[in-house]
Amino acid sequence: MHQPCGRFAPSPTGPLHLGSLLAAVGSFLAARAAGGRWLVRVEDIDPPRVVAGAADAILHSLEAHGLRWDGEVLWQSQRADAYHAALEHLRRVGLVYPCACTRRELAAVARAGVDGPVYPGTCRAGLPPGRSARAWRLRVADGRIDFRDAIQGAQTQHPATAVGDFVVQRADGLIAYQLAVVVDDAFQGVTQVVRGIDLLTSTARQIYLQQCLDLPRPDYAHLPLLVDAHGAKLGKQTGARALDPAHASDNLRRVLTILRLSPPAELHGAPPDTLLQWAVTRWNPAALAGMDACPVP
Ligand code: GLU
Repeated sequence: MHQPCGRFAPSPTGPLHLGSLLAAVGSFLAARAAGGRWLVRVEDIDPPRVVAGAADAILHSLEAHGLRWDGEVLWQSQRADAYHAALEHLRRVGLVYPCACTRRELAAVARAGVDGPVYPGTCRAGLPPGRSARAWRLRVADGRIDFRDAIQGAQTQHPATAVGDFVVQRADGLIAYQLAVVVDDAFQGVTQVVRGIDLLTSTARQIYLQQCLDLPRPDYAHLPLLVDAHGAKLGKQTGARALDPAHASDNLRRVLTILRLSPPAELHGAPPDTLLQWAVTRWNPAALAGMDACPVP
């Protein structure tokens, strides 16, 4: 039996905001409630999207909110060898192939799937004459991926029809998020993934990759999306506003309320550690069953 292990995996594209604090706290409580470890992985795999100083700001903000991780932070920018080894394995067993298609070509012919155009298989049997490789794609076999999400319930996806052969190495040479996450979750011994619902449609691809690479499958729980009072997704301004660590106790209280763990009045203004300790013993994802959106309290 592996020790339970959860993780928070922020992309350093901006400061910690309410939505990312929700994912941090949700994953933290789930891990600690199971007596497990909680790790932080900085997903700085996409240099064009990395914002200077964001990773440090996120880590400081986590500490200010009482969210102390185990061990060292893992940085995806340091993990290229591991990703390329996984890619090489997929190449050796014939599961990936080079693709010459541009975004524009695909947009013109492909039908829409759960996450952009479904790859129509143009380069599956080989590059068209005169064309050269851009990205590398995973050959996705027909079949269903089923999993039980601890919050969103039973999930089913046919990756072949919902996304098609998906990219594992991008045209700019960077490793795709889906592959990096799967390699890192296995490397770090992650047994439970708690994250935002925006990644729910990625999960079947990740499970599919775990099967291709013979890696264990963690348990999954996807937290509700934060919306405004009218049910609309938070805009860039409201959704991405940096949390003020000076208001850590209040920020935590808001997030705990979203998680159906409203602290009692006597804990208002309590230090982050006290609030988190109170919440760990009460963590109950079943209380969030089916909740896919939640207004910001
Ligand atoms: N880095 C991703 C994000 O910030 C999260 C990845 C994950 O939790 O699997 O959206």
